[in-house]
Amino acid sequence: PACNPQKQMITDSAYMLGTHLQLSLWTEDKAEGMAVIRECFQRIYQIEQKMSVNIANSEVNEINRYAGKEYVAVSDDTMTVLRKGFAYAALTDGAFNPAIGPLVKLWGIGTEKERVPRLDEIQEVLKYVDYKGIKFQDENKVKLDIDGMQLDLGGIAKGYAADAVTKIIREKGIKHAIINLGGNVVAVGKKTDGTPWKIGIQDPFEPTGTHMGVIEITDQTVVTSGNYERYFMRDGKRYHHIIDPKTGYPSENGVISATIITDSSIDADALSTSVYVLGLEKGMKLIESMEGVECIIITEGKKVYLSSGLKGRLKIANDGFEIVD
Ligand code: ADP
Ligand code: MG
Ligand code: MG
Repeated sequence: PACNPQKQMITDSAYMLGTHLQLSLWTEDKAEGMAVIRECFQRIYQIEQKMSVNIANSEVNEINRYAGKEYVAVSDDTMTVLRKGFAYAALTDGAFNPAIGPLVKLWGIGTEKERVPRLDEIQEVLKYVDYKGIKFQDENKVKLDIDGMQLDLGGIAKGYAADAVTKIIREKGIKHAIINLGGNVVAVGKKTDGTPWKIGIQDPFEPTGTHMGVIEITDQTVVTSGNYERYFMRDGKRYHHIIDPKTGYPSENGVISATIITDSSIDADALSTSVYVLGLEKGMKLIESMEGVECIIITEGKKVYLSSGLKGRLKIANDGFEIVD
């Protein structure tokens, strides 16, 4: 009975939020399925318009423009993401930092302006990346305390978008779907044959789509942060896009990818970036302290560390990787 032969897969892709998006859902009514996917992409478009720093009149850029000056009223969407980002900044002592904007701009990783900044340039902008300078007022007003501060929600917005799309898909009564927003994956329900979804974990040393292992999940999200996602090479050194707000340099602590498995994609997105920056010991400790959250941390030397609830659940697909107990 779980298997419905009339269900067919509808899939479509797009490029938004600076990444490739793919939505697949299973439905009996093809036209309706396509309409749902269209609605999902429109929702992501809205979220991008509000939160992207690459869109001149986004709400986030509006807040950035008024830094040190005035409170700015923003939508519930932006407010939700900002409050969540702030909470994770507090939880991780600033390892996750939504005020990372000045450093992201300075490094320009993934843009034409990417370069290794001078130490004095990094030190100069570091004084503007304290998340405690993000001030909230009333229900929906935000202000950055100091002129020069800048928000960047690149480490959390995709997770929010993934949750928003999941909500639409569930509300439409769709029982089986896979949402993939540039590596932020949500598996809705189970496969049409009633078995759990099998989600591949990216091999950080191989091209996108090559998996180092597989995990089975139902109604959960899998989000990975890695140093392979966006980077440039200079003098044999890799400079990637996840920045340690304490040093101002790309985070370098032995972690090369951090994957979070949990129910909410915004939490998973914030946590994948957090764990990447916190490193193996502190990152694992944080995840173990959280109910219903699991993680896979891969370090240099292809060592794989699993949180306690994942033991025995990751099937390694490449012998080069070693699970450390
Ligand atoms: P991806 O974008 O590959 O999914 P992440 O979710 O880890 O990876 O987000 C990385 C992005 O988050 C960067 O491109 C930048 O916009 C932002 N960012 C970089 N460092 C931090 C940090 N320490 N805290 C919060 N956001 C960060
Ligand atoms: Mg993230
Ligand atoms: Mg991410």
